[in-house]
This record gives sequence, C-alpha cells and structure tokens, in this order.
Amino acid sequence: MKLSRQFTVCGSAIFCVVVFSLYLMLDHIDYSKNPNGERVQNGQLGILQDKIDQLERLLAENNEIIANIRDSVINLRENVKEGKVFPEGNISLVISELLPSSPVLIPIDSEDCQFAARTYSKAVDGVQMLDVYDLLRFDNPDGGVWKQGFEITYEENEWDNEPLQVFVVPHSHNDPGWLKTFDDYYRDQTQHILNNMVVKLSEDVRRKMIWSEISYFSKWWESIDDQKRDAVRRLVDSGQLEVATGGWVMPDEANAHYFAMIDQLLEGHQWLERNLGVKPKTGWAVDPFGHSPTQAYLLRQAGLSNMLIQRIHYSVKKHFASQKTLEFIWRQNWDQDSSSDILCHMMPFYSYDVPHTCGPDPKICCQFDFKRLPGGRVSCPWRIPPQAITETNVQERVQVLLDQYRKKSKLFRTNVLLAPLGDDFRYTEALEWDQQFENYQKLFDYMNSHPELHVKAQFGTISDYFEALRKSTGMDPVGMDVGEPALPVLSGDFFTYADRDDHYWSGYFTSRPFYKQMDRVLESHIRSAEILYSLTLANIQKTGKPSDYPAVENYKLLTEARRNLGLFQHHDAIAGTSKDWVVVDYGTRLFHSMLNVKRVIVSSAHWLVLKDKQTYSHDASNPFLKMDDVQPVQDALPRKTVLEVRDKPRLVVIYNPTEQARSSMVSVYVNTLHVRVLNALGHVVRAQVSAVWNDATHPATDVFQLSFVDHAAPLSFSIYQLTEGMELRTEAAKYSFLTEDKHITVNRLEHFRLSYQDDAAPVQIENPYLKLSISAATGLLETMRLKEDDSEHQVRVEFVWYGTTRNKDKSGAYLFLPDKEATSYSPSQPAVIRVTKGPLFSEVTTTFTHITHTLRLYNIQGVDGQSVEICNTVDIRGEFNREIAMRITSDLNSEDRFFTDLNGYQVQPRKTMAKLPLQANFYPMTSMAYLQDSSARLSLLTAQSLGAASLKSGQLEVILDRRLNQDDNRGLGQGVLDNKLTANSFRLLLEKRSSVEEGHNEETAPYSYPSILSHMSYMYLNHPLVSMATSLDSAALSLTPYNPLRTSFPCDIHLVNLRAIQSKEEGGGPSEEAALILHRKGFDCGFSNRNTGLLCTTTRGKIHLEKFLTDLKVKSITPASLSLMHTHNSESDQQEISLKPMEIRTYRLQLS
Ligand SMILES: [Zn+2]
Repeated sequence: MKLSRQFTVCGSAIFCVVVFSLYLMLDHIDYSKNPNGERVQNGQLGILQDKIDQLERLLAENNEIIANIRDSVINLRENVKEGKVFPEGNISLVISELLPSSPVLIPIDSEDCQFAARTYSKAVDGVQMLDVYDLLRFDNPDGGVWKQGFEITYEENEWDNEPLQVFVVPHSHNDPGWLKTFDDYYRDQTQHILNNMVVKLSEDVRRKMIWSEISYFSKWWESIDDQKRDAVRRLVDSGQLEVATGGWVMPDEANAHYFAMIDQLLEGHQWLERNLGVKPKTGWAVDPFGHSPTQAYLLRQAGLSNMLIQRIHYSVKKHFASQKTLEFIWRQNWDQDSSSDILCHMMPFYSYDVPHTCGPDPKICCQFDFKRLPGGRVSCPWRIPPQAITETNVQERVQVLLDQYRKKSKLFRTNVLLAPLGDDFRYTEALEWDQQFENYQKLFDYMNSHPELHVKAQFGTISDYFEALRKSTGMDPVGMDVGEPALPVLSGDFFTYADRDDHYWSGYFTSRPFYKQMDRVLESHIRSAEILYSLTLANIQKTGKPSDYPAVENYKLLTEARRNLGLFQHHDAIAGTSKDWVVVDYGTRLFHSMLNVKRVIVSSAHWLVLKDKQTYSHDASNPFLKMDDVQPVQDALPRKTVLEVRDKPRLVVIYNPTEQARSSMVSVYVNTLHVRVLNALGHVVRAQVSAVWNDATHPATDVFQLSFVDHAAPLSFSIYQLTEGMELRTEAAKYSFLTEDKHITVNRLEHFRLSYQDDAAPVQIENPYLKLSISAATGLLETMRLKEDDSEHQVRVEFVWYGTTRNKDKSGAYLFLPDKEATSYSPSQPAVIRVTKGPLFSEVTTTFTHITHTLRLYNIQGVDGQSVEICNTVDIRGEFNREIAMRITSDLNSEDRFFTDLNGYQVQPRKTMAKLPLQANFYPMTSMAYLQDSSARLSLLTAQSLGAASLKSGQLEVILDRRLNQDDNRGLGQGVLDNKLTANSFRLLLEKRSSVEEGHNEETAPYSYPSILSHMSYMYLNHPLVSMATSLDSAALSLTPYNPLRTSFPCDIHLVNLRAIQSKEEGGGPSEEAALILHRKGFDCGFSNRNTGLLCTTTRGKIHLEKFLTDLKVKSITPASLSLMHTHNSESDQQEISLKPMEIRTYRLQLS
C-alpha cells in the first residue's frame, strides 16, 4: 500500500516537472520583434504560423512524455504486484531513466573529465610517432646492398668483451586463407608442416620452432592421435616448441575492430589452456600490413610481455635503425604512467623471409636459406645459390654469415641478436627440415667452438630471444614489468605502411567493403547472442528447473561463429586481399555464422520473454520468434521480411543490445498501412508508415515500412503488438520529387501524398536539433544548422572518383596508386531526388547511376536525433580501374589536422602532409574520423572499416568501393573485380565545442577523445535494435518484457562481451562461468552542455555489478587477464569493479 502511494506521489511529481518544463519551453520561444520592439505585423504571419506549429509539436512531444511516465508508473505497479519490489532508493532512478526527453544537462561527473583534459608532456627518451613523421624527409635514396637503409660498418674487436649472442628462430608463416582457402592450405601444406615438426624437433633437443595460428593448430590437433599429442606436449614442455601470440589468427590491425581482436585472442588462448596448458608470453606479427598500438595494448592486457612487428614504413625502419630505436617499450598515447608498457622488437629489413632476416644484404642471406640449395624448387633471385655446409667450406661460410649478424647487431643496443629463419608455409617436407637444421647446426657448432669469433649461436624460440634481451638490459627476464627501461619508450602507431617507393598500402583499408560491412554486422550479432545466451543460462539455473533450452547445441553454434569471425580477422581476410574463391569461402563462413547466431538469439529471446517458462519448447525448424531480416546468400544484402498483420495481433519483440537505455527507431515491413502499434501495456504508440521503394521511382504496392520509437531499457526486450485497423496515431509519410530540369513520374504511390517540386530552392528537413539544407540540383547536403545556437555550417557532401596511375605499378587489392587528385562524380543520367517527410523521420534519397544516397533525420529526443544518418548503396560493377569516394567539405578551419580511430578503441591524431604522396595520407577508419577547429567538431561515424583522409582543411573523405583490373605485385596475382552491391552507413555529427582550455596544447597532443554523445552515437549505429516477430499463430498474452538491468551502465562503460566459458569436461558444453569484458571509454567533456538526451551518467569508473541486476545475483566474480589466461588475486571488495579510463578488463563471472 505504502509503495503504491509512493508511485502515485512520484508520478504526480514527474507530471508536474514535465508541465513546468513545457511551460519553460513555451516561455523560451522567441517571439520575433522588429527594431522598434513591436510585435510582428501581417508580413510575418508565416513566422507566427511556424511558431504555432512548433508549439503543437512540443505539445505532442510532451503528451508522449506523459504517456511514457504513465506507462512506467503502471509498469512499476505491476512489478510490485508481481513481487518484484525495487529497493526504495532506486525508484526515482528507474522512472527518470524511462523518461525519454527530460530536459536535463549532461550528467557527467567533473572528475571524469580530467583524463581527457590533461596537458600533454612527452616522456624523457620518448619517441612520439607524430614527431617522427614531422622529422622524416621520406626521400628514398639508394642505400647500397641494404637498399632502403645505409652501409653498416663495425670494428673487428667490438665483441671481444661481450660475445654476440645469436638466436636463430625457425618459423613458418601460415595464412589461414589467401591464395588457397583455409582448408586447402591445411590439406596441402599446414598438416605436413606440423606432422614433420613433431618428428624433426624430436630428433635433436637443440632444435626449436614457433607457431602462432591456433586456427590451424587446433584443426591439426583434432586429427592426431594421443601418442602424437603427448609428443607435442613434450616439445612444448621442453621449450623446443613455443606458441607465439596464440590467437586464432594473426589479425589485420587496420580493419579489425577490438571486439573481434579480443574474441579471436580469447578463442586461441582458451583452446591452448584446454588442450596444451600453454600461456603465450610473446606476440609474433610478421605480416599484418601496418601495426596498431591497440594490438599492443590487448597483448599486454592478456598478460604477454613481449611482441614483434615487421611491416613498417621503410623510412621509419631506416630512421629507427640509425637511432637504435628498433627495440622499444611501446606505450599507449593515452597512458599516463607505464601500465600499458610492452617490450617490442621491430624487424629492420624489407621482409620476414630469410634473405631479409640474417643481415642487411639479401644476396648473402639468401645463401643461408638452405631450402634454396641447388636442385630444389626455389632458388635465390640474386643468382648466388646456397652451399651445403661441409668441413671444407664451414670456416668461410661462418665468416660470411657472421659478418651479416654483426652488421645487423649494429642496429640494436644490445649484443643479443634475433635472426628469424622461415617464410610462408615453410618446413612442409622432411628434407627441408634437414636442410635448414643440419646446415645451421654445423655453422653454430663451428662458431661456438671458436672463441676468437666471440659469438654464441643457437636455435631459439622468440621468447628465448626476449629473455636474453631482457637479461642484457637489466629488465626482469620473464615478467611483464619492464622496470626502469634501458630502451626508449615509444608511443603512436605504424600506419600507413609503404614497403617501397610510393607504394602505400592504403587500398586494403577499403578493398572488398561488402565483407568489411558484413563482418561488423556479424560482430554485433555475436555479441548479442553471447550476452543473451549467458543471461539465459543464468536464468535457467536460477529457476532450477530442467529446460528444453538447447544450451549445448547453442554453445556449439556460438563456438563455430567465434571461430569464423576469428578467421575473418586474418590479415588477408578482412583486409580484402585474398583470391576471389577464398573471399567466397570467408563470406560463406560469415553467412552461416550469421544464420546460426540468429538461432541463438531467437531461442534465448524466446526463453527470456516467455511468461510461463514451463511452456518453453525448442523447435529449431520452426522457431517461436523469427528475426526480421534475412540475407538470402553470402554475397547479397539482407532483406526485411514482411510481417503479415491481420485482425489477430502480431507481436514484435525488440532487443536493445546496448547497456544503456535508449530511444531508437524500430522499422519493420508490414503488408498494410492500416496498422496500430501497441506497447506492452496496451497503449497506442505513435507510428509512421512509409512506402517501400523497389527503385528510385517505383514503390511496392503491397509492402509498407512501419516505424515507431522504442524507449528501451538497457539490454532489455520490449514487446509491441501490431494490429490491423485505422489508427490516428499512425501517420503516412509525404513524398515529393524534385523535378527541376527533368521529367519524373511516379505511378501507383497510392495512400501517400505526392508532390513535385520544380523550383531550385534547397530542400530542408529538420528535427528538434538539426535543420539540413539539401541542394535541389544535386540532392546532396549543403548546410547543417544546429538549433541549439542557431548556427549554420557549410557541410557539403559530394562523390568523387579516383583512377589509377599509367605507370607500370597500378592500384590493386593492397595498394592505392591514384593517377591524380579525385575528379567529381558526374553521372550521365540526372539523379532522382525523393524527399520523405513524416512525423518520426524525414529523409532525402538521391539515386545516381552508381550510388543511392540517403540522408535521414530522426525526430527523436535524444542521441538518435542529434546526428544525420547517411546510407550509401554503391554499385560500381560496370567500371574500369576506378574507386569511388564520399567527400564532405565543411567550413571548419581544421588545417592539416584530423583524427581517425584505431580498431574502434582509440583515436589517433593525424596530419596531412604535402611531402607525402596522396595515397600516403589515407588512414584506416574503423569507427570514426573527425576534424575540428576551436568552435566545432565534425565527426563521421562508420558502421564498417574503410580508408579515410582529409586532403584539404575542413574536408573529410572516405573511399566506399574500389574496382581494379590488375594485380599490384604483392603475390595475390589478381585484381579486385568481384564487387557487389554494397551498403555502407554512417552518422554525421556536428558538435559545438564549449571550451578549448588554455595550455591544453591541442595541436601537439598525441591523443584526442570523442565526446560521450559521439561514443553513444557510434554504439547506436553499430548496434541497432534487433527486431524479431512471433509467427502468425502464437498466443499474444504469453510474453512479458524482460529487463535484466535496473538502470543503465555508466555512459562511459561498455559491456564488450559476456561470453560463456567452455566447461572443462569432455564434450565441451558451457561451464557456469562467463567472461565479463568491460571497457571504460575515454571521452572529452569539452562540448556544449546541450540536452544530449543521454540516459546515463558517469561514476568515476566504478560499478557495483549486483546493484545493476534485477533478478540475477552475482555468485562469484574474479578478475582475470584479458583472455582468461591468468587469474588475478581477488580484490578486497569483489563486487566493486573499478576501471581506469581506456581500460579493458575481463572478469570471470558466475551469475545465479
Ligand atoms: Zn600472411
């Protein structure tokens, strides 16, 4: 009784607040006055009319707010009736969370703003990559035998006191798909390499080998018997075989998102723990096309101490070699202490093959690749073949090789030398093992038995090398702590990679964009499936009743999806640099995994929203819920399914994958425009019906798009009923076509108001935050007006073409070699411009020959209303050697500075440099790019990885697709001609900057952070609401909304994943534990305090997990390393989680 009175009081209080704020809003309406202060006269009646319209809109919005409050109060009452009593203190929180548009300021703790606002000071002995780029001339002088370097000399007696210590590290680079599919490589090469490894390493304890791709290793493991497995374990235990990195693949570091990078690392490390009991210590990445500090951070968080990288711009390598900074402590740009430090070795020369790893002269080093002995299949292109080592030539051969070792050693600070020995798919045949290991052993034996040479040489693993290196520099030989470093501290990244001349590898930032987009959609689905699966298991546990829920079957589907997503993070997969049929293999894997995770989502959703769990029954062939979109084949865009709405109610279940409450648009296809949308409490919800267009001017006559706003609680399921019938709150959109200088007729657009506009006046669409002006001639955006301060900015969108150079080397899958600056896109056919205006969203769709471009504004109070949605459907299949880009030109005075993210994890400041060719100024954009001046920031948020640049002040551009008729001589042997109809989507966000603090030295700071609003907009874009519908004949009353969280997570804390951990038992179903992965984002508070509509706050990185949960409890929570390899000592208060800004942490979590 008492509680129910409280609700009434509470509800009335909120009612009053809303009425009062409505009053305030009315009061704020600015009645235009003429200079004499008199009220407007007849000529300004139009303005008055606008004001009245505005008032009506405000009234309508407030009605909506009140309806929401009423619903939430009723909802709370019902919860109380059902016995779900919230602790008293949380009541107001819950209610205010459900308020979609309470006019409050951004609720950010000022302490949380300090991280981004700090001033930058460079570390002593620090190397900042932005400075290095300023310094370098990027000339390309001939360096002699080391073509991209310089002549190296040494004194004979330099090693007299401390001998040179050489570690020759045998390795075999196995691409999980490139010229062949993963399975074909395995069958033809990889299995033989691993089989021979067991035999050949066992022959001599001095032999060593490293392996990194667990995708291959696990496949092989499944095929071998116990005896062989034992032999492998012995090799691992004795230190002869080392697993380096231990990820599922060696991931692309430009296009991969950190969600997938972590997931593939976890999958590999979990496999290793279960099968080999191995914990990798050292990262090994010889082939990704440029390196990201995000990977360094993830390795460090996973508990690795060392790492090696290889593909770095040749000018950077040369500079680092001359400064002896090829070995460094890699520290994150944003790191204020040394918590992110990891020891890193950068290989100095052109490649990781043998000619480029023993020393500076490839002609010499090739002679020590004994696979190339005369009579074999491979030889040395420098025309001097290797000689088998004999007693007669050993002394001379040692002198020649030692000379290379010594020269290479001069590029480093210690006497410990690394000489990798391997190449792609090496050591396939037993003979090759004998050739390499026997000949090298003879060389080592000679070296080691001649003290006057002052050298100690041996086979080693990569960790053997690092251990010796650490010892020689006084570091802890095995620990993570690098201590007081004897090596320089480096911060920054290694993009954009060039391996020679002006051959910049910026093409692969965009190559095969269809799959880059599909990858991101799958990531979001896998995350949803993982979280829902874990919540369902915990829920089933809690009820304690046996269930028909397919826990083991779903775990298998999830595992397969993790592995296919992991495989796609490989540096030839998501990079778009494989053969056509290998691309199809990856696409098919992603496609099947998409279907499978959708099965996990719908079967889990079914359980969670079912009122009476006893009635749950699982039928894989006829699921209770169906996802509302279907991708027909691996290389086609998904299509929405049409929901038949008849007299019987049709239920739509909406999942909010974000851990914060949000108001977002739901759009489904229905068979009629006479639809009423009811929420779970039976209240009619405002809706918009729009036409579905088969092409620019042809509407479908039997399908309509139904849109409504879902005010969703975090990670919740909401339920809506669709019923057929006339409904005043369901309004039809209005259409107009711009017909200046062209003739357009639209037939059969019944039910919608249609008009033709033939004047040249720009089209305007607006919502409570923004007003966009779009050219009537081009159909493209020209200006953006921010209503908050009534400021107008030029933001001009256009499309441009790049061609490729006439030189011998042309653009291909890897390389971008444009002929000149881009030319503007001017198709022969005039564009069709269609304007849609409706109560919930308005859009302008412009259809060109190669692109359908849609600009959409949502009429939503909150995050979704504050940016412009841009969707491009691109089709360049008829073109010859062309790339198409979207260019946005603004009036922001950004000069040569702009910002792109790395792996969706952090933002890297960039500088466009005239001393570099055009293609070198392109950078990977995984989640966003932005530019700014002292008053504003313009961000382009993306739902897929693409290449981006800012070639002029105020300009941002992004390559959308590329079609290239030739190979670019990096081994692929084909062009890129398998283009598809590709969809890519973005959000464009313009933010006013409130303060640029004095002394912030923003121009030089090597870090920058998005605002909370920008982070949130990105989340909404990449994790849209998931809609499902019940089959036609299901009973309406059997479902109930599901809210696992009482309140939103803090705005800056992202639930990266809640990933079920496999049980130790045979058979491999789920255990009772899940990996809870959290990321505290870094954000910049320096933006105007407008009503951002955020439904969350910040808490200085602290969360008490159990306080967030509605009906589940935390049974145990244990901090662990990122990939669960190491379990940390329990903290004093287990329940309290505390994260530093930018930190990603994993916990073993058991819910009940
Ligand atoms: Zn590779």
